[in-house]
Amino acid sequence: MEISSTNVNYSESFIDTIYDYQTTFVEKSEGKLLVHPITKTLDIRTERKVPRLGLMLVGWGGNNGSTLTAALEANRNNLSWRTKEGIQTSNWFGSITQAATVLVGSDHNFKDVYLPMKDFLPMVNPNDIIVDGWDISSYNLGDAMKRARVFDVALQDQLYNKLSKLKPRPSIYDPDFIAANQSDRADNLINGTRYEQFMKIRDDIREFKKVNKIDKVVVLWTANTERFSDVREGLNMNMDQLEASLKRNDIEISPSTIFAMASIVEGCIYINGSPQNTFVPGVVEMAEHHGAFIAGDDFKSGQTKLKSVLVDFLVGAGIKPVSIVSYNHLGNNDGKNLSAPSQFRSKEISKSNVVDDMVESNDILYKPQEHPDHCVVIKYVPYVGDSKRAMDEYTSEIMMGGHNTLVIHNTCEDSLLATPLILDLVILGELCSRITIRDHNKPDTKYESCKSVLSLLSYMCKAPLVPRGTQVVNSLFRQRAAIENILRACVGLAPNSHMALEQRFD
Ligand code: NAD
Repeated sequence: MEISSTNVNYSESFIDTIYDYQTTFVEKSEGKLLVHPITKTLDIRTERKVPRLGLMLVGWGGNNGSTLTAALEANRNNLSWRTKEGIQTSNWFGSITQAATVLVGSDHNFKDVYLPMKDFLPMVNPNDIIVDGWDISSYNLGDAMKRARVFDVALQDQLYNKLSKLKPRPSIYDPDFIAANQSDRADNLINGTRYEQFMKIRDDIREFKKVNKIDKVVVLWTANTERFSDVREGLNMNMDQLEASLKRNDIEISPSTIFAMASIVEGCIYINGSPQNTFVPGVVEMAEHHGAFIAGDDFKSGQTKLKSVLVDFLVGAGIKPVSIVSYNHLGNNDGKNLSAPSQFRSKEISKSNVVDDMVESNDILYKPQEHPDHCVVIKYVPYVGDSKRAMDEYTSEIMMGGHNTLVIHNTCEDSLLATPLILDLVILGELCSRITIRDHNKPDTKYESCKSVLSLLSYMCKAPLVPRGTQVVNSLFRQRAAIENILRACVGLAPNSHMALEQRFD
């Protein structure tokens, strides 16, 4: 793609654009809205050099970790294998960067023209990602892939030799944070105090970088869901408290928080794929202090992704969802861990808030504080393995007291939905770290990076973490539009408004 505009300049190092950003500021006073359309001219700069990227997975030997590693290897080598249905080839279906397109514009016949998202801006190619990681289980990645029972055996057999040479680094195990039923796999552990464990993780990151000549590291938690940790004064309300708590080996500092702290200090991007509150206020402050990037929480893969589409559609259509009941059963190790009450509670919280912004958006349907009944059930049924079943019932009020009930049954391999999201989190997270902006009318000021909390990654997250004081957006279409339009802005293109005036007026 080549952009024909005097406002866009491709130099050897950067893509620079002069961009008119249009937004709307609203003041509310005495029941009235005063609305200010605003146009700001910005310089947007994207670094063109794609770094040699290292990905360190916490929970490397789990279903997601082993599936991602195997999928990277399979795609890198264009592997294909025989199944009952015929020959299957490797792909990245389910990844927006690799398997989705973005509308560029329309041609002289008013026909839409699309481009793969990965071709909009320089992005890391999955084939070039170097993977490493930690696990409390000592299984090598070949055996971990077999244990996961996700891929067809014919593919596993092609990958086993290569993957069996990869071995997770020992990790931090605290039985107080994950379910007791995980203890039988915990045989690959870092001992010592929390501070010593923190230092060991830092050493691991540095060693990985050095040995593999890595430019940038993303650390991503895809380990077991932990229980929530306390958030309170004196413990973790700011960076100083958190660091002091770590040094005095406070038992409320979770393994995931230790990983986040070590990653931040080492300048890595840290992403949390599970629901627990790793990002206590002290961690967020620490990321801001070190200029590091963080994102989370909890992969938005199946049931919640659909919920963030369906409720958006219903409320946007003026229909009032009044009861949402979500039932799941699954039989993988994630399900086993979530069968314990405090780990389930983390997931329940993460799954529960997903409709809040959509409900709040419509005060015709909902009175202040009014909310649909929302119930989430998760059951562990070992036999179904990674093939998760989700059953959802959405009851809505329609016109004149009528009711509409939608029932959805969803069956799919959990890890094959989550793995492409991990890839997108990594690729888009890395891209965010190369985008900077400044006010065009203040050319003497320096370019500013994204805020530490990368809310642009919300599309992939069930419970999006956003910068302090900013709006949480759960709606999948709004989240996707944000990604698409920021990519467009980086190459000087206006947002996709779908106004198509040239097609509606003479
Ligand atoms: P899994 O249980 O198969 O894998 C987790 C791995 O983490 C295991 O190998 C375990 O030994 C390891 N582990 C536990 N504590 C650790 C620690 N402190 N350090 C290092 N390793 C540790 O689970 P999974 O299916 O791969 O899911 C991983 C996480 O992703 C879970 O928390 C799950 O809730 C979350 N998640 C998954 C999906 C999905 O669709 N698969 C969606 C949303 C969130």
